[in-house]
Amino acid sequence: MAYGYWPDLTPGAEYGPCAEPCQHRDCAQLRDPEYPKCAGCKEPLKAGDRFYFNEDNKPVHAAELES
Ligand SMILES: [Zn+2]
Ligand SMILES: [Zn+2]
Repeated sequence: MAYGYWPDLTPGAEYGPCAEPCQHRDCAQLRDPEYPKCAGCKEPLKAGDRFYFNEDNKPVHAAELES
């Protein structure tokens, strides 16, 4: 399984939610402050961090799974 790099989720960024308020379910998930939190250490992932999605589809820092 390959790791990914956490995208910049700033509203209006390439992989972020819409810059303006909207009704998209995907955008609501991206705006949720819980969404970027690592399932391991509970710290939010930052843009450019290496990560995996775990079996619950939650992000985890790659370094925590590789150690
Ligand atoms: Zn949207
Ligand atoms: Zn972590």
